[in-house]
Amino acid sequence: MELLLNLPSLRVTDCSISDKEEHIPCESILTSGYCPVGMKSTSKVIVCQERTIRDMALLGRKVSLYFKTRQFHCEDCGRYRIGL
Ligand SMILES: [Zn+2]
Repeated sequence: MELLLNLPSLRVTDCSISDKEEHIPCESILTSGYCPVGMKSTSKVIVCQERTIRDMALLGRKVSLYFKTRQFHCEDCGRYRIGL
């Protein structure tokens, strides 16, 4: 399923399949973010947000993805990175 969705950083936690529509809860497998400026990773998570991706088509079905995004703060450059 992960390969089909082409989202390697998301792990499908459950899958309820119906004939017409699929609702797929996911969670990120990332535990740290990556800053391209400092070329190093940071594990300082500052926020989690619920996100939903709708209207994806997968194998002819309508698919909704639910997952939480994590935002990381890089202490080196002070920027915020969103890890999917
Ligand atoms: Zn940085």
